[in-house]
Amino acid sequence: MTAPAPRLLVLGGTAEGRALAAACATRPGLETISSLAGRTSAPLLPHGPVRVGGFGGADGLASFLRSERITAVVDATHPFAATMTDNAVTASAAAGVPLLVLRRPGWTERPGDDWRRVPSIEAAAALLPRLGGRVFLTTGRQTIGAFAGVDECWFLARSVEPPAPPMPARLEVVLDRGPFTVEGERRLLAGHRIDVLVTKDSGGGAAKLTAARDRGIPVLLIDRPPAPAAEQVATVEAALSWLAGLGY
Ligand code: NAP
Repeated sequence: MTAPAPRLLVLGGTAEGRALAAACATRPGLETISSLAGRTSAPLLPHGPVRVGGFGGADGLASFLRSERITAVVDATHPFAATMTDNAVTASAAAGVPLLVLRRPGWTERPGDDWRRVPSIEAAAALLPRLGGRVFLTTGRQTIGAFAGVDECWFLARSVEPPAPPMPARLEVVLDRGPFTVEGERRLLAGHRIDVLVTKDSGGGAAKLTAARDRGIPVLLIDRPPAPAAEQVATVEAALSWLAGLGY
């Protein structure tokens, strides 16, 4: 029996997912399909074929893997996309398809930083009023509702798409997408007299953390969800080596 044609599914929505899809396009014989959740109206599209929208849970993803004859999956979703990653682990096992999780490393505190780590968005909202009154909120549109009851604080929230209610009463929204520069972040913090930054421990570009350190303001950092029960690498190069190990 001949081996099935190599067909890779990249679960994306990140710079790493796009970089991996672009790199895979140069591998002869390897077909790569990228998948996006469809959260943003004008997403940055990966190179090559792209499908958009949920699969319908782990069962839906397992059916997709079988019907599309997928032979390997790389989960390159954002470190906080925990539901998608859990589904990828379950579905890949059910369909007998090898899975790799590609996650950029989280951030590490440096001298001059004043970081408070919390386990969840809710814990961040509870602690926030004790740290500052003018907040730069960078945790994403879907999490703004968790801060709706924090009436002591004024918020500058940055997101790619406009947030929907519930929202904090005193809120200004800036619609923007990274990468951001340290100089730009410094200007934003100074211009709005920000005295505390709230962020997920997403990893990657750290301009806002550098700007917060320079201004001597505290950072409320939300810890990542637990690591998935799957093989994990931190770079696109390591993911390409894993694929090479499969013969792709
Ligand atoms: P999530 O909570 O883990 O996933 C919720 C559901 O959305 C999943 O069960 C799945 O629906 C669908 N989904 C998520 N990612 C998908 C993908 N790449 N392709 C197809 N369906 C997907 O995910 P999330 O945190 O909302 O993130 C959604 C997307 O935004 C991901 O692609 C992620 O990489 C990107 N993103 C997330 C963040 C963040 O902070 N969470 C930041 C930047 C980018 P079904 O169950 O129906 O399959």
